Amino acid sequence: MLSTLDLQELLRGASLRVTRPRMAVVSAVLANPHADTESIIAAARAELPELSHQAVYDSLRTLTAAGLLRCFQPAGSLARYEFHVENNHHHVVCRLCGFIADVDCAVGKASCLTPSSDHGFVIETADVIYWGLCPSCSS
Ligand SMILES: [Zn+2]
Ligand SMILES: [Zn+2]
Repeated sequence: MLSTLDLQELLRGASLRVTRPRMAVVSAVLANPHADTESIIAAARAELPELSHQAVYDSLRTLTAAGLLRCFQPAGSLARYEFHVENNHHHVVCRLCGFIADVDCAVGKASCLTPSSDHGFVIETADVIYWGLCPSCSS
């Protein structure tokens, strides 16, 4: 768990104004990687009980736009948030229970950012999701 000072530092580092809702949301996401919005609301409210749903939605949107959080949405699942780390990791998702885990790039740092054809795009991120059965669902 990061201290209040560390959280303020993170927000300022992303050129964001430090607000209590944003701090509560960043800290909730750090403590609950791959959480959906409802779980983030619950966790953030444990720290800041008066926090409204709208304040959490607004904070998630701002923090994601600023690159502090990363949002991804496996097909058939709710949007999930995690703290954005620069390792461009991927996810493995269980198609039965929805369990999600992190998977590092198969070939070194951010190598998946080099597509066979970029169609003239400036590529910023690659979302790769491996689907399958987790150990408890496959046994
Ligand atoms: Zn499973
Ligand atoms: Zn992840």
